[in-house]
Amino acid sequence: MIFDFFKQKHECKHTHVPIDVDEAYCTECGALIKNKWFLIRCSSCNIKRTAHCEYDIIKPDTKYCPNCGGTDFYIQELDNINFIDLHYAVLKKTVIPQTKRATRQIWIEQEETLIPQANKLIGLSK
Ligand SMILES: [Zn+2]
Ligand SMILES: [Zn+2]
Repeated sequence: MIFDFFKQKHECKHTHVPIDVDEAYCTECGALIKNKWFLIRCSSCNIKRTAHCEYDIIKPDTKYCPNCGGTDFYIQELDNINFIDLHYAVLKKTVIPQTKRATRQIWIEQEETLIPQANKLIGLSK
């Protein structure tokens, strides 16, 4: 019984969400997951530092910058990931709340209503 309790408390890590998409639904918990990429850069010399995610906090792998010996760093969020940054960047799978899901649906409806107007603009309907 105690084990069951711990199993329920276990948070989904959304491991089956592919990392090459912007966002996708987790097939294990049904949450909408957005892949967010972060880079850690040295505050002194600005080089990229290798990093990891520990309890949801992004940290550099080493205490000191390998280039200048500095300890200060800053976190940069990437709009999209490229091959070069893949070695440095940290991926955080962020759950998009239900309320945002609703606005997504409204958006799709708006796009549909825009289509007749667009046809008018290019002279397809009278
Ligand atoms: Zn999940
Ligand atoms: Zn540095």
